[in-house]
Amino acid sequence: MRVSASAPGRVNLIGEHTDYNAGFVLPFALPFRTTVTATPTGLDEWTVTSDWSPGGVTRFDRPQAAPGSASWVDYVRGVIWSLQEEGHEIPCADLHISSDVPVGSGLSSSAALECAVLTALVELGGLDIPTEDLPRIAQRAENDFVGVPCGIMDQSASILARAGHALLLDCRTLETEHIPFDATILVIDTKAPHRLVDGEYAQRRATCEAAARELLVPALRDADLSDVDRLSDPVMRRRARHVVSENARVLETVALLAAGRVHEIGPLMTDSHTSLKNDFEVTVPELDVAVAAALEAGAYGARMTGGGFGGCVIALVEPRDVAFVTESVESAFARSKFTPPHAFVAAPSAGAHLEK
Ligand code: ADP
Ligand code: MG
Repeated sequence: MRVSASAPGRVNLIGEHTDYNAGFVLPFALPFRTTVTATPTGLDEWTVTSDWSPGGVTRFDRPQAAPGSASWVDYVRGVIWSLQEEGHEIPCADLHISSDVPVGSGLSSSAALECAVLTALVELGGLDIPTEDLPRIAQRAENDFVGVPCGIMDQSASILARAGHALLLDCRTLETEHIPFDATILVIDTKAPHRLVDGEYAQRRATCEAAARELLVPALRDADLSDVDRLSDPVMRRRARHVVSENARVLETVALLAAGRVHEIGPLMTDSHTSLKNDFEVTVPELDVAVAAALEAGAYGARMTGGGFGGCVIALVEPRDVAFVTESVESAFARSKFTPPHAFVAAPSAGAHLEK
């Protein structure tokens, strides 16, 4: 029996660096997907290939990471390992991967890959796993096998998202709500090289955890702005202020969307960017220039999306303004002598599913 499954990349509408602070995020799935075709081999051996890496076939019998040789195949091995750690048996298969999710642009091609593999293997193994448990299993592959300390947002969006909706996720309780979202989001891939990203991410996490400890709360989710003012260290104060204010912006965004006031979320997006730039300090010039140019060209709001230090900007725009905003960002990049950006409109799309 041959099984095919696909899972999307995502953008985060708002709620950045809140996931590991037990807060709120509001991602939606992109119309780009990673597809995995799994064919049982009948042997004690897995074989894995990807169009993205035409280097050949990787074979293994057990999903052990080769120390010190990080490879894209580890995302696949990690999912098999994660399922086995949960006590599931899956027959060895030949896995072929194809994808139109941009890789390494902060659009979560890694979660798309994990979630597509996971969805295919659950079907192949006839496993009875509640859908709401799948994001955690995929995240465990990335955290504990690949060794990337990401939060739960990317995998949740890739598995659970619905077309026409953003996904409100409470990263503490893992409760979700599908929020109808019908607006034009222009995604601008800045093509900025990811600089410093791993070390800075770990440092931001550590600072947030230290701030929560000083405030005697389990996580910054539990702090308010008056708590933040009590923090002794000025850098820690700014980091915490971002997280606390960002959680509030997510909830305000959801309230505005529920009230049908979609354009009014624009200023919240822009405030989010300003906070990420000045307080959390995870932007780079390419992100700031793209946001400024989009706003100048008439976007209702714009912000970086993803972890920062490169990656993408999203802008909320009128459909008729897409071309003008795109050209304005391109011109601003040319003036700044940046690599030309790539912009596209992204409609909120469906989460992981089997393919016929
Ligand atoms: P992002 O998730 O933002 O795209 P990451 O650095 O987290 O960036 O993940 C990118 C990595 O995921 C790639 O370097 C590769 O190892 C793996 N990957 C993603 N998509 C594919 C694919 N289609 N085929 C093989 N590996 C992939
Ligand atoms: Mg990733």
